[in-house]
Amino acid sequence: MRWAQLLRRIYLVDVLACPCGGRRAIVADISDSEVVVAILAHLGLPMEAPPIARARSPGFDFT
Ligand SMILES: [Zn+2]
Repeated sequence: MRWAQLLRRIYLVDVLACPCGGRRAIVADISDSEVVVAILAHLGLPMEAPPIARARSPGFDFT
């Protein structure tokens, strides 16, 4: 099973669906962290992963 099919099956999100109605295509697989950081910086996106938080139930009260 392809990774996109797995994501759709688990998260109900079609990661290859484009807002224009077309289908996205994978053009590269970048695993070099320095390159990834450079791309994220260029796009103005966060370069650090979000902090890991504990799982909580839907009714969890933060107060
Ligand atoms: Zn498109």
